[in-house]
This record gives sequence, C-alpha cells and structure tokens, in this order.
Amino acid sequence: MIPNWIEQRASITPNRCALTYNNQSWTFEELHQISLQKAAALRAQGIEDNSRVAIYVTSSAELIHLLMGCMQLQVEMVLLNLRLSEAELAYQIDDAQVDAIIIEDHLTSHITNSTRQKILLSQVDGPCDRPLVAQQWQTDHTMTIMYTSGTTGNPKGVRQTVGNHVASATSSLYNSGLIEGDAWICTMPLFHISGFSMLCKSLLHGVRLDLYSSFDVKAVTKQLVEGSATRMSVVSLMLQKIVAQLESDDASVSPRFQMMLAGGGPIPQDYLKRAYRLGIKVTQTYGMTETASQTTTLANEDALRKIGSVGKALLFNEIRIDGAEKAGEIGEICIRGAHITPGYIGKYAQQSSTIDGWLYSGDLGYLDEEGYLYVADRRSDLIISGGENIYPAEIENVLITHPAVIDAGVCGVDDATWGQRPMAFVITEGQIGEQELQKHCERLLARYKLPLAIHIVDTLPRNGASKLMRRKLKELL
Ligand code: AMP
Ligand code: MG
Repeated sequence: MIPNWIEQRASITPNRCALTYNNQSWTFEELHQISLQKAAALRAQGIEDNSRVAIYVTSSAELIHLLMGCMQLQVEMVLLNLRLSEAELAYQIDDAQVDAIIIEDHLTSHITNSTRQKILLSQVDGPCDRPLVAQQWQTDHTMTIMYTSGTTGNPKGVRQTVGNHVASATSSLYNSGLIEGDAWICTMPLFHISGFSMLCKSLLHGVRLDLYSSFDVKAVTKQLVEGSATRMSVVSLMLQKIVAQLESDDASVSPRFQMMLAGGGPIPQDYLKRAYRLGIKVTQTYGMTETASQTTTLANEDALRKIGSVGKALLFNEIRIDGAEKAGEIGEICIRGAHITPGYIGKYAQQSSTIDGWLYSGDLGYLDEEGYLYVADRRSDLIISGGENIYPAEIENVLITHPAVIDAGVCGVDDATWGQRPMAFVITEGQIGEQELQKHCERLLARYKLPLAIHIVDTLPRNGASKLMRRKLKELL
C-alpha cells in the first residue's frame, strides 16, 4: 500500500502551480478538489470504484481532471489512442471488456458499434459533495492499460500498476533531479506512456506540467528560448522540428532549460549534434509501454562522448543482452525492475510478460565496453512512423481480409518526414487495382498505418519454414 498521491501531493505543496493549459493554471490543491468533484460525478454516472473504463478524450486540462478523478476511484483506465480506426477501437474496447467508455462529446461518431455504456465527457461534471475516496492505494492495482501491437499483429493490453508508475517516476528522478521552478512541457499524447508518465511525474515530484493538446513547434520553441520550462519529452520528429525552427529563428535555448528527453525510436545523429549546438541538452532514453516509460537514459555528461547510445539502466533497473557473451555482441535486450508490467489483459491475459523477472523486449541491441546500451535494430520488423509503432503483420492481416488478396507482405521504407512508412506487396487473383486495396485499408486502419504504396507481385520471399522474410521485400521494388 502507498498513500493516495493526489491527497499527499496536495497536502505537501497545495499552492504550487501544478498545471497550465491554454493560458489557464491550476495549483495542486485546485486539482485535488477537481479530482474529487470528478470522482463524485463519475459515481453519479454509475461508475463504480475499481471498475474498468475506456477513455477517448483529446489531451487537455479536462482530460487531466478526468484521469485524476478516475485515479481517486481507482478505476482501471484503458487509454484509447485517438488515431485509431473505428475497427481498431472496437477491438480494444471488446478485448478490454470495459464497463463504460467516456467519450469527448464531439468524438462520439468515432465509436458507434459498441454496446458498452457510453458517457459523454460533459456529463462527468456536477457539484461536489466531497466523496469518500481511498487514502491508500495497493501497489499492484492496475492504474492504466495501454494497447501495444504484438508481433502477431493483435494489439495487447498492457497493464501498468500503481507500483510500476511509482517505480518509473522514482528512477527517473534519481537521474534528472529537481531544480527550483521545474516544469515539464507535455506535448506527447496522454494516452501514450510518454505522456501519461509526465502526469505521474508531476504528481509524484510536485512539478508543473505545461500541457499542449498537440505539438505546437512555435509555442514550444518560445518556451525553450525564454526558459519558462525546464524539461520536455520528445520523439525524433519533434526534436527535428524544434531544431529547424530554432535554426531559422537564429535563436538558442535558455540555459535554464535542463533536459530534452528524447525516445520512442532512434534519433538521427545529425539532429543530435545540431541540437547540442543550439544549447538543447538532449538526453536519449529507451523505454516502452511494458516498462511504464524509461528504462535506460544517457546522462548529459556522456551525451557527445556516447552519441547514439541510449545510456545505462536507471537506478533500480537492470538490463542484459540475451545471447551475447561479450561487449559489442548483438542480442535481445532484456529488462528487469519494479517498473515492468505484471502482464496483459484480455486475449493475452494468460501470457506471462517475464521469465525469471526479465522482460524480453523483442528489441535487438548491444552493450559497449563501458556498459552503454545501443539499440541496434528495432524489433526486426517494426516500422516506426512519426513516433508511432506500426506492425507489418497488422497491415498484412487487413490486406488479406480482402477477397482478391491471396498473400501479403509489408515492410518499412525510409521516409524523410516520418522516419519510416509502410510499403505493401500483395499476390492477388482476379481483376483488382491498387486503389481499391488502398480504400479497403482506409476503412480498417488508422491513417498513419496506410501503406505508401501497394505493389502487386507474383511471389513473396519466404524461408524454408515458409515464414515471410520481410527484410527481403524491398528487393522486390
Ligand atoms: P511502444 O511499444 O510504443 O511502447 O514502443 C517501444 C518501442 O520503441 C521499443 O520496444 C523500441 O523498439 C522502440 N524504442 C523506444 N525508444 C527507443 C530508442 N531510444 N531507440 C530505438 N528504439 C527505441
Ligand atoms: Mg511495444
């Protein structure tokens, strides 16, 4: 058991600024009061303590208020990605067997085919009669559930417990420390672990969150130059845009700005060097949904000496390379620590997430002579486009559902804007054109997963065990 964070934070630093959004701000005590009001309103809508609720709301102060209201009732929050197609949403809602779905009012048309109770965001409101809430939280209580696509193409609902989030925020703090007036800029979606972990850090560390509903390069760059915030989390694409903006403005970042935490995928080294020249203290990190955010981080003093590395395990975490006998050998990255998910829900509930406490990440990497981690390759076939994971199997599965498609293979191709984009290859029968297949994909897949092109071919490269060799697909071009 640990004390309810919201109550304890509000009692320690009630008057400190906790959140800013669109020129409005809230103290920790104000957020505390609002969270109680939301908890009461949720109960009035029939949401019971410890039930499971899906949330489909854009990043906003309102969403923070709702998430904190859910925390007060220890509701298991299934955070739905706003970029998913209706079919993908339906899969997750069904797999999670949620008791209700909370939907932002103007987004109701995105979720039409579910029989689950729907509650509009605007309905989670009303006068507060100070509801009774738990003063202690179980560390093994599932606070959040986020879907990550499995290698089979079926998304898996990853559980993140109270203990996982505390462990993650604690290890992160041992790495970054706190300085006077600390504040995080949050432009990452709150439905991703990168965004949600910032809310946890804010409540646990007592630092201000400057929340944006989406990445606004001009507004963010202004904050960096002024030094009105000290930390920010980014994916590669955001860092590239910030660097380009600063260069074109001929501006540099305030020395008050302490840390640009960059993760989610590899960052081109050219951008790292340009970022350092502009005074951006980039801290590379390696993390995943299953590890409730960061596992390793490259300390600032090593940033240039170890460029390209994602650093060492944060305090209390461990990493090892499975299948490697000495430094420099590539193998699967395995992770151990209190931040690791206890497992999945739904279809994969029975599947263990660890072996002897070790999470097999599916990522390939190596440690150098000094023990610094390098992610050599993403899980061999994973496509990362603009910071979003795209699993080839998922697109292949969709293509194969078309009656004219006999077989399909998808691989990533380099893209100057998005890092990578998916490219599809299909074997067809009868008369069918690329356009019709693209339309089929549009119906079933989120936009960012749509193939750049769909090539009709005679054969697909398969190995002896008839497994598709995705690496060889590009040779068909
Ligand atoms: P997700 O499944 O969305 O939680 O994304 C986690 C995956 O992103 C990891 O398993 C890695 O494949 C990849 N990833 C995260 N951080 C890095 C990094 N710094 N460098 C390379 N790949 C990364
Ligand atoms: Mg993953």
